[in-house]
Amino acid sequence: MENAKKADDLKRVIIEKLVDIYEKDGVFNEKINFQDGVTVMLFVGVNGVGKTTSIGKLAYKYKQEGKKVMLVAADTFRAGAVAQLVERGHRVDVPVITGPEKADPASVVFVGMEKAVAENVDIVMIDTAGRLQNKGNLMAELEKIGRSIKRVLPDAPHETLLALDASTGPNALSQAKEFSKFTPLTGLILTIIDGTAKCVVVLAIRQELEIPVKLIGFGEKLDDIGEFDSEDFMRGLLAGII
Ligand code: GDP
Repeated sequence: MENAKKADDLKRVIIEKLVDIYEKDGVFNEKINFQDGVTVMLFVGVNGVGKTTSIGKLAYKYKQEGKKVMLVAADTFRAGAVAQLVERGHRVDVPVITGPEKADPASVVFVGMEKAVAENVDIVMIDTAGRLQNKGNLMAELEKIGRSIKRVLPDAPHETLLALDASTGPNALSQAKEFSKFTPLTGLILTIIDGTAKCVVVLAIRQELEIPVKLIGFGEKLDDIGEFDSEDFMRGLLAGII
């Protein structure tokens, strides 16, 4: 009994300490930066980390909340990527803006942005290509996409979210470093966290790059996405250890 109480106390203190380390200055904003007008969310990340899946889940969530949502398929490079996003959009009855095959992603984004503003959309989510192996092209492409967004809304994007597969471990840190060289990141989406609750790398990313985790994906169902809560997360890290 006494020991169990001690273990609980210890756990609580460790969780508090980890949350303190994570939150550091207490000004870490984990909330999505929603606007009164159009909110533009740009999604980046290497292929296979759950970008498209997360966009589909968020489209469902925001629509449920009564928001008018639009998706833009700017990954025109990878065969099947556009079709995959279109399918996600259809599933939750949200429009998806696409261009012709191999279209310039920035031009698709420009068309999508104009449409979103004209139609008074609340949230636009833009899917992008993730081929890190060709860094020069990717950087130029993301810059051009950024310019397209700003031509329509100078203060956008309001979020640039990097998707990371929680099971990749330290490699996630190097992905975050690479991408933050290309484009300023406002937050992370940690996906596939259902497979591994022990994503310690989040602490490292926080310490080294000052990028907050904003969303977590924890399964393949439409509502398997949520906001990040540092206390819950640290409790998950310790589960089974003490
Ligand atoms: P993208 O290339 O970054 O757009 O990645 P996808 O969205 O296509 O996801 C890659 C794979 O991971 C797919 O098989 C998804 O079903 C799966 N996936 C994505 N998010 C999650 C998650 O939170 N949990 C689990 N278990 N699987 C996920």
